[in-house]
Amino acid sequence: MDKIVSLCKRRGFVFPSSEIYGGFASIYDFGPYGVELANNIKKAWWQYMVQEREDIVGLDSAIFMHPKIWEASGHVAGFSDPLVECKKCHARLRADHLLEDIGVFADEKMGEEEINKIFDEHKNKAKCPHCGQQDFTPIRKFNLLVKSNLGNFTDDWNKEPCYLRGETCQGIYVNYKNVLNSTRVKIPFGIAQIGKAFRNEITARQFIFRTREFEQMEMQYFTHPNEEMKEYEKLKNFRWQYYIERLGLKKENLRWSKHENLVFYAKEAYDIEYRFPFGFKELEGVHARSNYDLTQHAKFSGEDLSYRDPKTGEKYIPHIIESSVGVGRTFLAIITDAYTEEEVNGETRVVLKIKKDLSPIKVAVFPLLKNKPALVDKAREIFNDLKGDFMCEFDDNGNIGKRYRRQDEIGTPFCVTVDFDTIEKDNTVTVRDRDTMEQERVLMGDLKQYLKEKLA
Ligand SMILES: [Zn+2]
Repeated sequence: MDKIVSLCKRRGFVFPSSEIYGGFASIYDFGPYGVELANNIKKAWWQYMVQEREDIVGLDSAIFMHPKIWEASGHVAGFSDPLVECKKCHARLRADHLLEDIGVFADEKMGEEEINKIFDEHKNKAKCPHCGQQDFTPIRKFNLLVKSNLGNFTDDWNKEPCYLRGETCQGIYVNYKNVLNSTRVKIPFGIAQIGKAFRNEITARQFIFRTREFEQMEMQYFTHPNEEMKEYEKLKNFRWQYYIERLGLKKENLRWSKHENLVFYAKEAYDIEYRFPFGFKELEGVHARSNYDLTQHAKFSGEDLSYRDPKTGEKYIPHIIESSVGVGRTFLAIITDAYTEEEVNGETRVVLKIKKDLSPIKVAVFPLLKNKPALVDKAREIFNDLKGDFMCEFDDNGNIGKRYRRQDEIGTPFCVTVDFDTIEKDNTVTVRDRDTMEQERVLMGDLKQYLKEKLA
């Protein structure tokens, strides 16, 4: 994990937020290569979930929504984590994680009384991860919704706060009728959305795995009640294939994990877990949610949210299955999967073997030497010719070995070098492959086509 965090900082993938002010807990910024990777992740997800699916459409709902939505969804009353404080160092900790660490099952869905009972039985074994002491306050459930004073011009907004959304899917549920009425979708169909969400996480010390501001990629699929579980199995397979085929993650680093403690309305819930450096943890949730969401919103809004089948005339509240994953967790899984150390001529080479279409930079262009104008001009000419087709980088800094090493560490699939043969002999450049480190000479006139084929 330390190596990944260090590489992300050193090479401009991820920076701690507000670093010059000492940082801001559990918030991170994407740097120049990080934003490229994050955008490529979102593009890949959107293409797979929306562009290639006739039955799924996109949406971009606002972060702020009517506060009643969060009452209907159950978040105001029940979206909370069990908070415990170390009496010695005052660190705020998640009681379910403390219990998990000593092999006792507990989760955030348990009530205050229930988890306090379990904690009292086992807390003599639990230790504060910061100071090692064993003296804790009683557990209280802490609500994760982040409050704001949007639209409230008094100082008394805390009583009736407006929330920053805790998940993106509520914006999908409340727009389901609008989508039905404005497009040609028919059940079964899905609505997909990518967007920011906010949670007042108690402890969030696993880099970008758990952050207080994060981006979700969610798809909610509306089904006939009798078709829910059939569609659920299809969605599970579809999402599993995405990680293997689209993102190129190693199969052995992925597994299914079934929720044993279901929320009362759920039919079934599985997570796809990834083997992060700190162990197998949730990457994506694929859940069968019954008709709970639309039933709740119908009740709280007074709107009829039922669906009438255009063929049979049957009227029902659709059942929903969902796929939900974070951009940050996908990002961390991709970097973890791709991070490779190799022994080359007695030295260690660090290389990110990211799937080519996800790489931040596709092609780096170098003049062999910085102080030879003829080489630099030719390399510039190539860079200018390629930059409209690929994300490219021009680099004439330091020796060529150092430049290769830098591109390896950010996962650039191809490096193009202009040398003396290019300008004096045969108009060819060398193209170096990131993974094999083999170099091939390619005619300048064929270069773009060559790269297009290799990157396809
Ligand atoms: Zn402590």
